[in-house]
Parts: sequence; C-alpha cells; structure tokens
Amino acid sequence: MRVIRTAKEMGIQTVAIFSEADRNALHVRYADQAICVGPPPSAQSYLLGGKIIEICKDLNVDAIHPGYGFLSENADFCRKVHDAGLIFIGPSPEAIEVMGSKLAAKAAVSHYDIPMVPGTDEAITDIEAAKDISLTIGYPILIKASAGGGGKGMRIVQNPEEFEEQMERAISEAESSFGDGSVFIEKFITSPKHIEFQVIGDQHGNIVHLFDRECSIQRRHQKVIEEAPSPTLTQELREKMGKAAVMVAKACNYYGAGTVEFIMDENRDFFFLEMNTRLQVEHPVTEEITGVDLVKEQIRIAEGKALSFKQEDLSINGHSIECRVYAEDPANNFLPDIGRLETYVRPQGTGIRVDDGFEEGMDIPIYYDPMIAKLVTKADNRQAAIDRMVRAIDEYKIIGLETTMPFCKYVLQHELFIDGTFDTNFVANHFTPDNLKSNPSKEMEQIAALLAVKVVGSQKPAQSTTAASQSNISKWKSRRF
Ligand code: ADP
Ligand code: ADP
Ligand code: MG
Repeated sequence: MRVIRTAKEMGIQTVAIFSEADRNALHVRYADQAICVGPPPSAQSYLLGGKIIEICKDLNVDAIHPGYGFLSENADFCRKVHDAGLIFIGPSPEAIEVMGSKLAAKAAVSHYDIPMVPGTDEAITDIEAAKDISLTIGYPILIKASAGGGGKGMRIVQNPEEFEEQMERAISEAESSFGDGSVFIEKFITSPKHIEFQVIGDQHGNIVHLFDRECSIQRRHQKVIEEAPSPTLTQELREKMGKAAVMVAKACNYYGAGTVEFIMDENRDFFFLEMNTRLQVEHPVTEEITGVDLVKEQIRIAEGKALSFKQEDLSINGHSIECRVYAEDPANNFLPDIGRLETYVRPQGTGIRVDDGFEEGMDIPIYYDPMIAKLVTKADNRQAAIDRMVRAIDEYKIIGLETTMPFCKYVLQHELFIDGTFDTNFVANHFTPDNLKSNPSKEMEQIAALLAVKVVGSQKPAQSTTAASQSNISKWKSRRF
C-alpha cells in the first residue's frame, strides 16, 4: 500500500502480487492489476523470485519494488532481476551481499574510521579459541548469526560455563533459520540505546543522511516504538554519527535508501551494528520530520536520476513517533494473537498517519509477520507528539484480537520514556502484564463509573464518578498554555 500510493502520485501503474492468504488484501484491490503467486506459505509464494520475474516479463513490467521483508535483501534475487532486464528499486546486488552478512559488513567498514563493538571479526571455527577471546572481551557476551535479521539468531552468554552449550545451539539455530551456520561474538552492551541513521544515495555517487531514529523500545530484539529525531543525541553527536553513517554507505558504493544501525552505551559512545539495505518499517518518522517521500526518491534513483537534495538542504522539522500495531498479546509474552478484526476504526485528525493493510472484518493471516498497521504522529516537539500518540491510541478501536496498543500507551506515559533515558531493556526491566491492568481503557473506566453510580445509588454519585476516572482528570487548570 505504501509503495502503490507513491507510484500513483508519480503516474506509475502498479501490479501487486499476492498469495492465496492475501486474496482479499487491500493492496490487491488498490493496485492497477494483481496476480496470485501461490499458496499461503511464503516459500511457495512471496519468496518465488523466479516466478515473480516471469510474471513481470509477461506483463511488460519495468521495475520491481521489493518492499521490506521477503526478497527485499536477497542479493541473488536482485541479480536475477537485473539479468532479466528489469529495474530493481533498491541497491546493487553487491551492496546487498556485503551488508547482508554482518561479518562481511564489518570487514567492509573496517578500512574506515567507524567504531565497532569489541568482538571477533570472523566466523567462529575453533570453540576453545573463541572461549579465550570471550574472556578477553569480558562477559556477558553475545553470540550472533552473521546472516541473522529481524532480531533472530542472537544468544546472550552470561559466563564461561554456559559458553559451549550456547555456542552449539547458536550454530545449529543459524544453520536451520538462515541456511548459514556462521556465528561471531560481540561484547554485550548491557544498557544500550538503538540509534540508526537513514541514508540515501544515487547512482552518481551522491550520498546523504536524513538524520536519526531512536528505536530502543524493543521486544525480542525487535522494535515496537520508534521516533525521530532521537531524544538522546546532541547536535554534535548527530553530525558525527551522520558522517559515520554516510561513510558506511560509501564503503559499499551504496545507492538507494538504506539504514545504518548503531548501538550506543551509557557513555554515549556509539558502535556500528549493521546496515539494512532496504526501506525500513520505521521510515515514516523520517518522512514526517524531513518532508521527503522516501519511496519517491527510491524510484527516482532507480530511474538513474540524481538525488533531488543535498545534505545542506535537509533539516529536522518537529518530532515524529511510530507505534507498531502488532496482533500480539502484550500480557502473554507478546505472542501472536491472530484473528478477525471485528471492529476496526482508525484514529484521525491533525498530525496522524496510519499506514495499514487491513479493514474491518478482515482476518490477520497466521503465515506472515502479524503487523496490522503503523500508527505515526507528528507534532512541533516531542512531548506534543507523545500527547498526540496517546490521544490517537485512545481513538483507535481494534476489537477481535489483542494488539500492542495498550503496551505502547503504557510506555508513552512512563517517566523514563518521557525523559528519554530508556534503553533496550525497558520491556525486561519496567514492563509486566500488571501494568496493563492498572491502566484500563477509557471505556472500562466509564463502565466502572456508571456501575459505581448504580451501586452507591443516591448516596454519593458525583464522587464515585470522579474517583473512577482519576486518570482522565482534566488538565485545564493545571497546565500552562
Ligand atoms: P526493520 O525494518 O526495522 O528491520 P523488522 O526487522 O521488524 O524491521 O521488519 C522487517 C522484517 O519483517 C523482515 O526482514 C521480515 O523478516 C519480516 N516480515 C515477515 N513478514 C512480513 C510482512 N508480511 N511484511 C513485512 N515484513 C515482514
Ligand atoms: P538484526 O539483524 O536482528 O536487526 P542487530 O545486530 O541489528 O540484528 O541487533 C538487533 C538488536 O539486538 C539491537 O537493536 C539491540 O537491541 C540488540 N543488540 C544487538 N547487538 C547488541 C550488543 N552487542 N549488545 C547489546 N544488545 C545488542
Ligand atoms: Mg538490526
């Protein structure tokens, strides 16, 4: 939906592909044409690169936008697209290849002055030697799959006693999940922030960054709330990290949109983590603060055009936050809670953007990432963007399945989020399912208030109502406008 919208604005016709599970999906109806690529499992549909290319040839398609997920970071697919005489809206296959392997990425940037997390720079082959290195780095350490992604393929090792067992598990998991058993070691940064930079380059060697995003609110090493700009960075640090991000992109002759991810420790020292060679889920917050349509730029770059702006043309305007609306139960370990969207009403009004792919009555398929939507707010400053997000969450009506929305509301109102000092351990250290119970929805409060009036009868109706809706007390008198 995100890509088709921009294509329409540019006067470009679109062909959507879909699996049998997505027959009624919005993108199928919204595109000019739609073709079924196979049964629900992605290995039999969305991952069939050869079949997708054949469809493109049959329909005289000019270019393929790979979105995110699926084949978007598959160098082999990108190469086949080129070989078929089609345009791949993304970077070169060489850049995808280098950055798709965390080890190859580290090797590529090692010639530049980019700080990296202490660790091994080659795949572990000798477990005893790796154990010695871990002692030098200092526990806890993290074992990572070189081909990993989406927060998968990581194991924390707290002490040398666990080392061998965890290493064996990590290798076999990497083999079964990514078809590549290469793992390496990194120092585990205990209280890190995840800060990343949006970069974009054209095929003429111009590369700029579009500032930072902070994505430290994560569960299972995967982001749930993202914002731009990061509340942590000073102007000086922003410039320094921005330059480093552009350098990482230059290290692989990058063109297209990409993201350079860093991890930052308590001393605000930052280290290169990895580069994602595609449009990222959280790209809307960058679009909101810079005014740039990233998909439009991607398409222009793929056509061979030069970037339509220089670094000095770009500036940060206001603040933007994104909450990922996952069909997951935050009270049950964020496990997927698949089902039907019995009621689905989007929030509206100034500064609100909902990027979604579902409508009321639709089922969330079990086959793919259970993301229903991305709820994005934009305002003049961070607190206003937070207030707007809380309002939008209250207005968002999703009935039929559990979502990450009550969790997001809890986080947005937490003092550590408000003052910006949170790190990636927020969920582990500050969230339990009980937090959701003590933060009931407005409807529940209203029902409770009505019941209180009924039960207490004519005795003290007015007081019961105010007591029941404490968290909704008007701030009219207390705030300064
Ligand atoms: P980010 O863009 O921040 O790295 P994620 O890693 O959370 O975000 O999301 C992208 C990942 O989501 C992909 O690498 C892919 O594994 C997964 N994914 C699975 N199914 C889908 C889907 N239907 N739509 C988008 N992404 C999907
Ligand atoms: P993926 O490809 O799965 O996105 P990343 O290397 O980007 O893998 O890491 C994902 C997340 O895992 C980071 O945002 C961070 O929360 C955590 N993480 C990664 N490396 C480290 C590390 N060395 N120390 C602590 N946390 C880390
Ligand atoms: Mg990452």
